[in-house]
Amino acid sequence: MRTNAGWDMTLLFLFGAAIFFLWPKEETPEVTPEELTELTELHPIVEEKKNELLRRSEEKGINIEIIEGYRTPEEQNNLYEKGRSQQGSVVTNAQGGESYHNYGLAIDFALETEDGEIIWNTEYDGNENGKSDWKEAAEIAKELGFEWGGDWPGLRDYSHLQLETDLSMHELQR
Ligand SMILES: [Zn+2]
Repeated sequence: MRTNAGWDMTLLFLFGAAIFFLWPKEETPEVTPEELTELTELHPIVEEKKNELLRRSEEKGINIEIIEGYRTPEEQNNLYEKGRSQQGSVVTNAQGGESYHNYGLAIDFALETEDGEIIWNTEYDGNENGKSDWKEAAEIAKELGFEWGGDWPGLRDYSHLQLETDLSMHELQR
């Protein structure tokens, strides 16, 4: 049987188009009314300290980029699954409601180079003073009352800064 090349191309095109339109799209999360009444941003004190950190770092010629701040408990749970039920390596031991990010009390930072590139290189010395920019930034943050994830025993989180507070996680959850 002779095949008709024109028809073949048409069928191929229709098949491609069908896959394109029927392929599951990424779902946009819906905002529930309850979520709107919850805190959806950084705690004012953290916001203030964050700005102070950016200012003092810049004075030293270090550009910091805030990668993450407030995180919903759902986002936290998704992150928790990374390296567990999901691919990748474990990045957190905190489940939803257990992270300072869920209370607007934590931020994650990285460095921005002169070219505007965001890097996670803790050895980078962009201001060329013989010290790691990352550690200098962490020092400033600690002066401002942040606890640095790089000081944690066990699973260290070099990007992570959280407000030191007398409140326990149990009290925060209440
Ligand atoms: Zn963090």
